[in-house]
Amino acid sequence: MGGSAVVVGGGIGGLAAAIGLRRIGWEVTVVERAPVLADAGAGISLHANGIRALDTLGVGEAVRAAARPQYAGGTRAPGGGWLARMDGTALERELGTPIVGIPRAVLHHLLRTALPSECLVVGAEATSVDRFAPGRVRIPLVDGALEADLVVAADGVGSRLRAQLFPEHPGLVYSGSTVLRAITERPVELATDFELTWGKGAEFGHIAFADGRAEWHAVLNSPPGVRHADALAATRRRFGDWHHPIPALLDATSPDAVLHHDIHELATPLPVFTAGRIALLGDAAHAMTPHLGQGACQALEDAAVLAAALATEPSVESALARYDAERRPRSQSVARAARQAGRMGQQLTHPLAVAARNTLLRLAPSRVTVRTILRHADWAPPALS
Ligand SMILES: Cc1cc2nc3c(=O)[nH]c(=O)nc-3n(C[C@H](O)[C@H](O)[C@H](O)COP(=O)(O)OP(=O)(O)OC[C@H]3O[C@@H](n4cnc5c(N)ncnc54)[C@H](O)[C@@H]3O)c2cc1C
Repeated sequence: MGGSAVVVGGGIGGLAAAIGLRRIGWEVTVVERAPVLADAGAGISLHANGIRALDTLGVGEAVRAAARPQYAGGTRAPGGGWLARMDGTALERELGTPIVGIPRAVLHHLLRTALPSECLVVGAEATSVDRFAPGRVRIPLVDGALEADLVVAADGVGSRLRAQLFPEHPGLVYSGSTVLRAITERPVELATDFELTWGKGAEFGHIAFADGRAEWHAVLNSPPGVRHADALAATRRRFGDWHHPIPALLDATSPDAVLHHDIHELATPLPVFTAGRIALLGDAAHAMTPHLGQGACQALEDAAVLAAALATEPSVESALARYDAERRPRSQSVARAARQAGRMGQQLTHPLAVAARNTLLRLAPSRVTVRTILRHADWAPPALS
């Protein structure tokens, strides 16, 4: 079955969906409201499930070549003592790959270049979707309209199409955490490929990149909407006396590079990921907290499964039913686990609870950490002919 599709949103999920659809012979137009297609975010970790989805889409090799494998790292306390070490080699043995770290801009570029430029329409904002046109779907844009056999709503965490399609759904909720993050402007000498450090209600982490620079993120319990005149100075005040290399990472950062976002999620799961000939995908379908580093990996899984379902099912309707059945339970269970990981990790504040968690982590054998990661990362991708 071939056809035409409009993908709303040119983020990681939308671009991956477009690549998958083109691989199975569909005509695809991606509409992106931003005037330029470039992800300005910081860095991202990709687990084996995300990398396997990228392999299915034909871009895994290019991403692996640009990314840095995470062999050495783990979780520490603010004084520097290790709570848990992560054995990337053991993960690689189990899954064929360790976790990898890559700047978002590089991942985005690799996804973009896997698509012909004429598929990508920038500065085009979808205002709504007409879901019941028989056999076709219409996407009104601020300036004009497009029609297709299928619409993929990949318009991100604040999805306008989700709000239109599910008016009864309560929508996003604030997770209780805010995140400041940046990429260093120069290489930093690091003994590990990645680290997380947990204090009370606060986490500082880094992901090292192939070129020696690193991204850092500082996640804090906070009321929503708090902003700082100088975000780097505020991060230094909170984390500057934590262990090495945290001060060095902050010293290697330009003040204008720091991004600050409140973290929202879909705490109430959507009842279904499809509506007529529309599929919701990525954060539009299952916005989750970043505490497991799985949001983009789940979007990549969505893209691979959607393409496989459309390639093998006899109709768009049956393909979308299969997409919903395969993707909704899994992505929603990962979202629940991410929320739980945040509560037990970064968000935990009670000193006794923090001490008990840290003791458990210190005592647990390293295979427990590997098993925790395998629970979500060991996903079998569909075949895409
Ligand atoms: C701090 C943080 C760290 C994270 N770390 C990781 C990690 O390490 N690993 C991981 O797997 N995930 C991680 N994630 C999650 C990951 O970033 C997201 O899950 C992923 O980027 C979602 O991709 P998406 O394409 O669904 O949405 P987005 O990337 O938000 O893309 C949506 C796109 O749609 C466009 N758009 C929106 N509305 C319209 C419209 N009406 N018309 C046209 N275009 C529109 C937007 O401009 C945007 O380009 C993290 C998230 C956060 C917040």
